[in-house]
Amino acid sequence: QKYGVNELRRMFLEFFESKGHLAMKSFSLVPHNDKSLLLINSGMAPLKPYFTGQEIPPRRRVTTCQKCIRTGDIENVGKTARHGTFFEMLGNFSFGDYFKNEAIHWTWEFLTEVVGLDPDRLYPSIYQDDDEAFEIWNKEIGIPEERIFRFGKEDNFWEHGAGPCGPCSEVYYDRGEKYGCGEPGCTVGCECDRYMEIWNNVFTQFDNDGHNNYTELEQKNIDTGMGLERLACIVQDVDSMFDIDTLKALRDHVCNMAGVEYQKDDNTDTSIRVLTDHIRSVTFMISDGILPSNSGRGYVLRRLLRRACRHGRLLGIKGAFLVELAQTVIDGSKDGYPELEEKKDFIFNVIAKEEAQFNKTIDQGLSILADMEEEMKKNGETVLSGKNAFKLYDTYGFPIDLTSEILEEKGLTYDEKGFEEAQKEQRAKSEGTFGTHNYSGKDASVYDQLEAELSSEFVGYDQLEVESEVT
Ligand code: ATP
Ligand code: MG
Ligand code: MG
Ligand code: MG
Repeated sequence: QKYGVNELRRMFLEFFESKGHLAMKSFSLVPHNDKSLLLINSGMAPLKPYFTGQEIPPRRRVTTCQKCIRTGDIENVGKTARHGTFFEMLGNFSFGDYFKNEAIHWTWEFLTEVVGLDPDRLYPSIYQDDDEAFEIWNKEIGIPEERIFRFGKEDNFWEHGAGPCGPCSEVYYDRGEKYGCGEPGCTVGCECDRYMEIWNNVFTQFDNDGHNNYTELEQKNIDTGMGLERLACIVQDVDSMFDIDTLKALRDHVCNMAGVEYQKDDNTDTSIRVLTDHIRSVTFMISDGILPSNSGRGYVLRRLLRRACRHGRLLGIKGAFLVELAQTVIDGSKDGYPELEEKKDFIFNVIAKEEAQFNKTIDQGLSILADMEEEMKKNGETVLSGKNAFKLYDTYGFPIDLTSEILEEKGLTYDEKGFEEAQKEQRAKSEGTFGTHNYSGKDASVYDQLEAELSSEFVGYDQLEVESEVT
């Protein structure tokens, strides 16, 4: 029996409903009243007020399937079998209700009895000092000691700054030798894709006051998260999350458009997977009202969209193509997210506009960059000048990370300091001309950029979510 993604989502929610949970709709990707987070990156994130006691939950047991974005994983996307910038996180939550015992038993019951995974391929990990969790896995579930992995604080203690925290217990699935890195130490916890982490159970029992003073929470909580795409990957017994039913349909669409075949060439495959992933992020982000801009969430969206365009070009796709792919995203996911269908026209309009704007200059920009590289080669240089990097940004709309990434593929870099200086210079110039307000046209983007730097939420693209990610 091979369950589809939409079926698995329903099975999970129904299972936890049968255990007394209230199934709630996914929250928006845009955090509500939470300045610490740019985009929702876990099932727990939008439920924070219930965990801290700031708000009363509608029930003390809740289950969700939450849309998530993790731009911090962008480097992994296309390269590993298990990372997307967008994914869905299944979760069950207890606000001062049940605790470790029930949580572990239900994790096991769902995986082995409801979904029917082979128990001999499942490996739990626990926080090294969490003997309570060990006893449950070992004595009650019956997993032999040598199959339970004890990890340190870095891996199995969930916390980020101030607030609720505690030990966690994760479940890994052994996909078999063919997915392994072959290194002698390859086992549970290895970064390769053989032992795939599927489910994280966080036992929130402490509160950190922000200075590492821990107090036992009045009410202990449970927060769990399982990637729906990873679960589907294992249940459907396919190579990666890009081979599960919904994502395969999208991937096939990408291949058809480009006239390329999957699994013929590594670089091509990476581009196929990146495009498949990014168009999902883009479609879902816009459906939650995020618009492309040069700061904050809008910048994340703009970068993902432009990166998708570029990988489409790398695959040989001509003209505009993202709207057509967004349609396939919607077809695959409207079962769980009817708002996609409702907001279709809006989504298509935003994508079409942004894509057209970038398309006007992308080919020109790419060829200018190629000329710059040529020039560098001639001069024996490996660092693109800040002035040139800025020109690509300012005139051709290349997000700086895109330029950086293209260069990196050839072992080159750009002058970050020089780029910032050129940016400052430009800003000073436009201020001289327009004063500090009423920017328009091209200068509007300069204004956005300025705002980005002033905004406390925005701490630079790569650091965006590192802090708030569940480990
Ligand atoms: P990994 O170590 O594989 O990067 P993680 O430890 O960062 O995963 P958690 O923060 O524990 O992941 O999130 C809970 C679950 O969400 C994971 O066990 C996994 O199933 C899923 N998940 C996390 N990140 C991603 C991602 N980028 N794409 C798809 N699923 C993900
Ligand atoms: Mg984890
Ligand atoms: Mg992990
Ligand atoms: Mg991770």
